[in-house]
Amino acid sequence: DWLSYRAGIDPGRDALVDTTTDTSYTFDTVDTLVDDLAGRLASVGVDEGTHLGAVLRPCVEYVCLIHAAMRLGATLVPLDDRLTARELSAGMDAADVDTVVCDATTEDAVADAVAALDVETDGDGSAASIPVATVDEVGTDGVDPLSAVGPDPVRAASWSLEDTQLILFTSGTTGDPKPVRLTTGNLLASAAASVFRLGFDPDDRWLATLPLHHAGGISPILRMPIYGMTVVLREGFDAGATADDLDSYDATAVSVVPTMLRRMLDRRGTLAESLRVVLLGGAPASTQLIERCRNYSVPVFPTYGMTETASQIATARPEEAFRAPESVGRPLFLTEVTVVDGAGDPLPAGEAGELVVDGPTVTPGYYGDREATEAAFGEFGLHTGDVGVRTASGSITVLNRLDDRIVTGGENVDPGSVADVLADHPDVADAAVVGVPDAEWGERVSALLVPEPGVAPPDSGSDGATDRHLDPEDVRAFARDRLAGYKLPKSIAVADELPRTASGTVDRAAVRDRFPADPS
Ligand code: ATP
Ligand code: MG
Repeated sequence: DWLSYRAGIDPGRDALVDTTTDTSYTFDTVDTLVDDLAGRLASVGVDEGTHLGAVLRPCVEYVCLIHAAMRLGATLVPLDDRLTARELSAGMDAADVDTVVCDATTEDAVADAVAALDVETDGDGSAASIPVATVDEVGTDGVDPLSAVGPDPVRAASWSLEDTQLILFTSGTTGDPKPVRLTTGNLLASAAASVFRLGFDPDDRWLATLPLHHAGGISPILRMPIYGMTVVLREGFDAGATADDLDSYDATAVSVVPTMLRRMLDRRGTLAESLRVVLLGGAPASTQLIERCRNYSVPVFPTYGMTETASQIATARPEEAFRAPESVGRPLFLTEVTVVDGAGDPLPAGEAGELVVDGPTVTPGYYGDREATEAAFGEFGLHTGDVGVRTASGSITVLNRLDDRIVTGGENVDPGSVADVLADHPDVADAAVVGVPDAEWGERVSALLVPEPGVAPPDSGSDGATDRHLDPEDVRAFARDRLAGYKLPKSIAVADELPRTASGTVDRAAVRDRFPADPS
């Protein structure tokens, strides 16, 4: 049985703690809830092969839904609960969703999305409406997760390694989000590779605070019964409250994106002493963020991964990270990373090129998009679209995305390393660097800066002699001592926050929009 196949899981141990209600659920209780929910889903027609959409906020019901889908043999399609009806129907269409589970907050958008899809399918004659089910509150004793008819007993489905267990969408940093097929084999290999490097066991308490529709967010939920660990579930991220929960629930593990870590450190200085593993990934981390972790003894494990690889494929231990803060460490068990040139030929250690990854966690492809799948795979595996370099000992550094490289006056500029230098300025908390079309230079290096807390933007009025203002000229002078002239930002703008996608990557298109283009 899915929730108890790990020999020796004590059914009386906590599987799940809901921080919203401060309620604990044992493996036994979760097992019952999952069974019950599976029964109710079966009664609305969910079975093997169903593409089951999930559009709800993180909650106990969502965790049960993830396991209930597995029990029924249904492919789960988690969608971002903040999407508009239009975006939802595009996602449901792309992943061929047959049935949707939503909650009170998403009910209306889901109903509109389904109606929009019905109109489309009407056109070609098949007007099958997609059933929508809404979850209710699950009490500690009352078991009523789905307001449908009573449950029938279900027999656990059997999965084979090649079956598509999940369809997850990429973050849409470089275009529309793409539906990625993840098989049972991908997910198990990913769980195993992580445990070999990081050593999770039943004494671990993983605070889950990332959105569940991303690989990094759903991973702890999927691995809870595999590791036998406790998942401490937060409804969403809030720097102060999440840092408090790490403390009060004695969390040993947490997975965060760089902005989240920076905000928690800004607020608290350090993180809970109980922490053993702070997985940091999803977007480039600045070297000074890693240095702050060293200063505050935060056990940070920089990681690199993507939706297409189920989760991280490379991880550095804290001592490695503190020695080489720009690196994301060595690939995990059975994963191979090759650095290739523009023609797809392997490059030696020390030379930058596209990272290509092969191994058991790599997706078989994008759902329903053979063309995109064929375009993504080459001789050495999946082309990540990321530029990186490998040391002789196998450690990887991710430099930027292939699409992000700036070409200015014929010179190549790596935006990440320029942003790192700008963020080293004492008044700058965060920086993003993009290329903006320019008549003279082809592309003009442009920087969006976020001032440190307590530092005012340049154009805000001063009402006291002690006010610190962010001075773009000062930042430029600072950078001039550290960067070649052609890398210096020609335009600088200031904002309270960098625009980001839901998964924490800088929304580069939105950054570019801050600068007037001169394309003529
Ligand atoms: P899309 O594929 O739709 O453009 P996306 O690539 O942002 O969106 P995800 O799969 O969520 O969608 O993100 C994976 C990407 O995030 C990686 O390919 C890489 O560019 C970036 N990334 C992840 N971890 C790191 C890291 N440690 N350093 C730098 N970049 C990272
Ligand atoms: Mg991608």
